[in-house]
Amino acid sequence: MRADLVIQNGRILDGTGAPELRGDLAIRGGKIASLGKEVEAEDVIDATGKVVAPGFIDLHSHGDLVLAWPSDDRLSLLEGRIAQGITTEIVGNCGLGAAPLFGGATEILPQINGWMTPAAFAWSWKGIGDYLSHLERVGLPVNVGTLVPHGPLRLGVHSLAPGETSGEARRLMAEALEAALEEGAFGLSAGLIYPPGMYTSTEELSFLARRVARSGGIFTSHVRGSSETLLDAVSEILRIGLDTGARVHHSHAEAVGRRHWPKLARFLEMEEAARAEGISVSADMFPYTVAATMMLAIFPPWSLEGGYPAAHRASEERPGARAHPGQHRDRLAELASLARGRMAAQPRQSRRLGPHPVGPHRRPGQPASPVPPAADTREIGNRSVMEIATCVS
Ligand SMILES: [Zn+2]
Repeated sequence: MRADLVIQNGRILDGTGAPELRGDLAIRGGKIASLGKEVEAEDVIDATGKVVAPGFIDLHSHGDLVLAWPSDDRLSLLEGRIAQGITTEIVGNCGLGAAPLFGGATEILPQINGWMTPAAFAWSWKGIGDYLSHLERVGLPVNVGTLVPHGPLRLGVHSLAPGETSGEARRLMAEALEAALEEGAFGLSAGLIYPPGMYTSTEELSFLARRVARSGGIFTSHVRGSSETLLDAVSEILRIGLDTGARVHHSHAEAVGRRHWPKLARFLEMEEAARAEGISVSADMFPYTVAATMMLAIFPPWSLEGGYPAAHRASEERPGARAHPGQHRDRLAELASLARGRMAAQPRQSRRLGPHPVGPHRRPGQPASPVPPAADTREIGNRSVMEIATCVS
């Protein structure tokens, strides 16, 4: 046999867990024609000292809008990932994403997604199926799969308001979720430190996760806290799995802050215990020791209760202020220093990033802590929060 291309002398790892194979990998007609045998070819790549492996799957991409951007410039943004061997990206993570787009999400979502948008461009899609078709039209440099982000579902029916969703709102969310799953999404993702995930009860998530379980999908979550409330936050997603039968995935499992590092071992034990109770639990981690997120996520929910809207109202009262994003930046800096002052003045245990109160963590299966009353809808002021955040990012 003569091949088009042979990759020689590499350590071949096929991704199945099988022991490595030494030898040649021959490609003919764009497909692997043989493994381990010596083959003649037009082109030869010497892979001595290197590993030859199938492409990697990045199951936690936030490239939703980079991939959708109808510009050749997106290739330069994807180059770094492709050069690492990533050939498949899973988008729609952490409750964040660009579809489905309906109701209140139509206006708010592009603002929330400012941080992941490489440039302003018109969104031509509504549902997940439309979004995937759009990616195909633009051209796919890598394979793409998607989860259904919880954020757009809730924004669609409840806008950016705290509090419980109504029965009718949940019915509409479930309908949109099921449509998206049918259109090819792999499951549901939640981001419980971001608006609107931070305002969402465990019960609402279970209501939706039950639909995911029925379709054989996966429920993934950026959990509600990664420091003080980490163990409570992990208990919450395990409980959702135990209550609904959905496969649970703990997104970028982490403990933020040195004194919380011992909790890593603890939550791994909790996840192991949940597996023993019969649910599927998986996790992924960052391959680096830093974290990045949108600035809005570092403000505790109480600081959104009146802080941003008050800043926004004040900026509206000043003629021309909205034309100058720098003024929003000043307001945000003021708010940040206010937050720092307030945190310093508070006893340590009351510092929190998510709406779950600090408390002893529960064993999987025990009832979750009740979510304390969320902020007043009118005080949150919806888009103003995002407008300020977008100006800053
Ligand atoms: Zn996340």
